[in-house]
Amino acid sequence: MNVLKDSNQNSSFVKLIDSHAHLTCDGVFENLPEVLKRAEENGIEHIVNICTDQKTLERGLELSEKYPWIYNTGATTPHDVEKEGEALFPLFEKTAKDGKLVAIGETGLDYYYEHSNRDLQKLFLERYFDLAKSTQLPVVIHCREAFEDLFAIADEVFPGGSAVLHCFTGTLEEAKKVVDRGWYLSLSGILTFKKSVWLREVAEVIPLEHLLIETDTPYLAPQSRRGKPNEPSYVKETAEMLAKTKELTLERVAEVTAENAKVFFQIQ
Ligand SMILES: [Zn+2]
Repeated sequence: MNVLKDSNQNSSFVKLIDSHAHLTCDGVFENLPEVLKRAEENGIEHIVNICTDQKTLERGLELSEKYPWIYNTGATTPHDVEKEGEALFPLFEKTAKDGKLVAIGETGLDYYYEHSNRDLQKLFLERYFDLAKSTQLPVVIHCREAFEDLFAIADEVFPGGSAVLHCFTGTLEEAKKVVDRGWYLSLSGILTFKKSVWLREVAEVIPLEHLLIETDTPYLAPQSRRGKPNEPSYVKETAEMLAKTKELTLERVAEVTAENAKVFFQIQ
């Protein structure tokens, strides 16, 4: 308990990176000035904004002009590839080739919701892996109940590539396979939920050198804000839980996860 108490006293000095937030989606975008002010006040050094369509991408590119500490990624989500995958791929491709993205994604496979058919999800995952390869960018992956197919496709078309499993909620066995590939796991507010005992066990075992933290704003607010819209300043609660889980100081968790994010996204 002393570890937590000490880290709380120093928490104003802690700098954190929110490695996954949807700042430019409707509902968040309207309140951005206040959201970003609170982020700065709470030591958020960088935010990686995830763009999933034309509107969020255009807003994101403008946003990072105005706030150089915000970076963008882009891809159609696995949920939406059936609806808009083909139409939007050239846009994300051009933006990546123009050097305006720090990663490709979130792309991936979601067999839990299965909003788009599985074959199409796999096809776009391959195309985005190829794009990442040709632009030398890392990939932000969304994966739910589809790890077997994800690893099979990645090993075939993206060997040696760099990726993060965003909002990781898989098993320890799946987490180890992520680490085996030299990839990162990103932990969200789910880590703080009372029922997430299994995820804290994963976080305890996986080396800090393979972990990022994120909010997935506006979704998945941490335990103390459950039901409210999430925002980047709340990433601190996930960092605190990670520190408690690994019996480390908040400072150490902040420092290493921020360094991991900087290396992964190649930001300063
Ligand atoms: Zn997301």
